[in-house]
Amino acid sequence: MLLIKNGFVVDPDTGREGIGDVAVGLDGRICEPDSKREEDYESVINAEGLYVSPGFVDTHAHFRDPGLTYKETLHTGALAAARGGYTSVICMANTEPAIDSVDKLMEVKGRAGREKIRIYQASALTMGRRGEDLVDIEAMAAAGAASFTDDGSPVMDADLLKEAMERASQFGKVISLHEEDPSMVHLAGINDIKAKEMGFRGALPEAESLLIKRDGAMALETGARVCFQHLSAFDSVSLIESFKEKRPELIHAEVTPNHFSLTQDAIDQYGALAKINPPLRTERDRKELIRGLEEGIIDIIATDHAPHAEDEKKRGLEKSPSGIIGLETAFSLATEYLIEQERMPLSTVIKAISLNPARLYGLEGGSLKKGQVGDITIFSLGEETTYGTFVSKSSNSPFLGQTLLGRIRYTIVGGKVVYSA
Ligand SMILES: [Zn+2]
Repeated sequence: MLLIKNGFVVDPDTGREGIGDVAVGLDGRICEPDSKREEDYESVINAEGLYVSPGFVDTHAHFRDPGLTYKETLHTGALAAARGGYTSVICMANTEPAIDSVDKLMEVKGRAGREKIRIYQASALTMGRRGEDLVDIEAMAAAGAASFTDDGSPVMDADLLKEAMERASQFGKVISLHEEDPSMVHLAGINDIKAKEMGFRGALPEAESLLIKRDGAMALETGARVCFQHLSAFDSVSLIESFKEKRPELIHAEVTPNHFSLTQDAIDQYGALAKINPPLRTERDRKELIRGLEEGIIDIIATDHAPHAEDEKKRGLEKSPSGIIGLETAFSLATEYLIEQERMPLSTVIKAISLNPARLYGLEGGSLKKGQVGDITIFSLGEETTYGTFVSKSSNSPFLGQTLLGRIRYTIVGGKVVYSA
């Protein structure tokens, strides 16, 4: 049994906020802390001066396994997640091969079960993520796919997506959507305004709003639960707000720490390390994303942890792949750019990084309520972390070498410490 004592507990699920104790029983689940005396616990963590929250849940990570394990593996991804305070992660399906059959899903799930954090696997929405034929949605749902998504590639066949929405909604499964109409994306990963300054064309913000308009309307019509992934553009927030007013239980959205921390000007400073899909945009866009998060229009902070090898990111703006790793720095960026700069309440951040993602995807965790899994993150807001190295297999991050506010002190899964600073 584990006792965490004297920490400042923040649990948006129960509304608990204040100094107190949290205990995890032998079954790995949250129990009443006063059921035993301190000497009766197997381990005791003194969390005085620290915050205690439900473990973080990332619903958008790329562990590149199988097929691209020179970038990341289930194991190195799990280590990076634990260092970042994450107790659960959903891996995207754009591996090689894509996760589009029950066999492939079960193979990943088997290996994922050996890691110390909870790793869930999304199913591709279409075979090979080619956007032509749907996967066997019923079989994949029954086999435990966390969600359905062709993340990385937008689904351009609206009729196909509508059928997927109708079928997935039967199982209450979420369809997660990467919204970038390719006809408005010239060079991916660079905002068009920034690209023009450099003499070429980039990715337009309308690429995002066009597809959100189409797919938000279809979700309302079919009753499917959808999550708009990694929002980047100003107009997307009010669009989602209007859909959400009609059916809040269906419409959901993510923002990444990259998009609430950086703007397109990061390209000047970091070059291809700041190239991501959808791209970093302007300060006006960034501020609107923060408003969305503050007002609950955007419900989820998701990392879009996207590892790439060093030589791949050195191929220049045009040729290097898009993506930034994010699991290890996510909480520091939230501390620095949301809590410190914007004075966002900590409970709003914890809701978006833990409770909401767990609820939407039906995962365990996200709550310190009695009987819930003992997944807990203990952290400090006042201490700093220097990101001199990463435990991820890759280090493609503009934040490499930077010192940021916020420090993860312990990550606990099922009552067991899986990371301590
Ligand atoms: Zn994506």
